[in-house]
Amino acid sequence: MKYISTRGDQTERRFCEILLEGLAPDGGLYLPVAYPKVDDATLTRWRSLSYADLAFEILSLFIDDIPAADLKALVAKTYTKAVFGTEAIVPVRKLGDSGLLIEALSNGPTLAFKDMAMQLLGNLFEYELARRGEELNILGATSGDTGSAAEYAMRGKQGVRVFMLSPHGRMSPFQQAQMFSLQDANIHNIAVEGVFDDAQDIVKAVSNDLAFKRQYRIGTVNSINWARLLAQVVYYFAGYFQVTKTNTEQVSFTVPSGNFGNVCAGHVARMMGLPVKHLVVATNENDVLDEFFRTGTYRVRKGAETHETSSPSMDISKASNFERFVFDLLGRDGAHCKALFGAALDQKGAFTITAEEFARIAGFGFQSGKSTHADRLATIRATFERHATMIDTHTADGVKVAAERVEAGVPMIVLETALPAKFADTIREALGPMGGDAERPAALNGIEALPKRFTVMKPDTAAVKAFIEQHCQ
Ligand SMILES: *Cc1c(COP(=O)(O)O)cnc(C)c1O
Repeated sequence: MKYISTRGDQTERRFCEILLEGLAPDGGLYLPVAYPKVDDATLTRWRSLSYADLAFEILSLFIDDIPAADLKALVAKTYTKAVFGTEAIVPVRKLGDSGLLIEALSNGPTLAFKDMAMQLLGNLFEYELARRGEELNILGATSGDTGSAAEYAMRGKQGVRVFMLSPHGRMSPFQQAQMFSLQDANIHNIAVEGVFDDAQDIVKAVSNDLAFKRQYRIGTVNSINWARLLAQVVYYFAGYFQVTKTNTEQVSFTVPSGNFGNVCAGHVARMMGLPVKHLVVATNENDVLDEFFRTGTYRVRKGAETHETSSPSMDISKASNFERFVFDLLGRDGAHCKALFGAALDQKGAFTITAEEFARIAGFGFQSGKSTHADRLATIRATFERHATMIDTHTADGVKVAAERVEAGVPMIVLETALPAKFADTIREALGPMGGDAERPAALNGIEALPKRFTVMKPDTAAVKAFIEQHCQ
């Protein structure tokens, strides 16, 4: 399988060439030249596979530059009960007779779905860097989920160091404990005296210093990485197999969305031939995507228009993976895609597709909806009262929107993207004394009391560079 850019550059690259990359050189995102199609016999064969074996089969269709035995070993060591808590890895549970089901993607080390892809990425990076005899220094800024998922994926890995900037004192005690309690020598937490944007600005400034970037082999693990998206395709198949008996049955998925990485993997699964009726994009108050699917206008929000919500991992001003879907929607016209995501967004911060293009969306199965703080509270409460199950705030956005879109005879699978223990304050606000405290996996009890390892710094790019230099000796 070869990969091309969404902005018209037809240079074909192989999987391991783009594994450690972010954007394509022309500013686009990588996609396979064509989606592999899965036939009925293959779906039937895949039904009985373990999660790791299913992952191997799917990844093999997209990766032809890692020997099969090596790839098999990498997925086998990634998707284990020890790391993800159950044999099923992504167990599906019913919400009573509501027609809704919940697929748990959040039983990994950081209790959020980003572990599903990041854990594989850690193993792929270590493998590929060893093969090349290279090292990589991952630099990132985080306000929570992505940073901790990256650190738990890369801890102890040969050839990889992580330098993760976070706003000092602004993460929840639980999130701080999760990240700062890591004692691995290759993980460096830098608490910047400022807000998230200060941390993000430093990462951008360091990355824009091309000489420094090259000398210190600075890389990232952001959500546009193709390998992350590919790893997520697997759980759409795994969820489908758990709720159906034959390949003639259709299901729909509702996906709590921010950067469109999760639901874009669902789009890839559907393009491969998985019988998915609808892919429902659920947003919170940051409704960039819901607006597009309702109106055909994609409008990037300004900083001041971006709301801080109680489902913070969906608080985005633009959806960085969205270009991948639009490329397919436009019939893979790279020049057209470049005009929209390059010139139009740069100049006007928005674009509108034509009525004819808008009409094509239905053929891709997409629908959307939006949820607010009040909806989250009501949904967490109703789900607890009716179904005796606690859901987190992001999953609640999904359940709220899914309930509006469920159709008779079509199971609606809501992707659970985090566990409630991560958002204890909002759970308490929703459930009051009846809920008690959101249950935590036993291994995480008391982590707030563990010794912490982090460095506090002024928001100063030069100081961060000096820190990286010093720790690359
Ligand atoms: C990252 C994240 C999301 C949003 O996923 P995207 O791939 O950015 O759409 C939703 N919920 C949780 C808990 C997350 O961490």
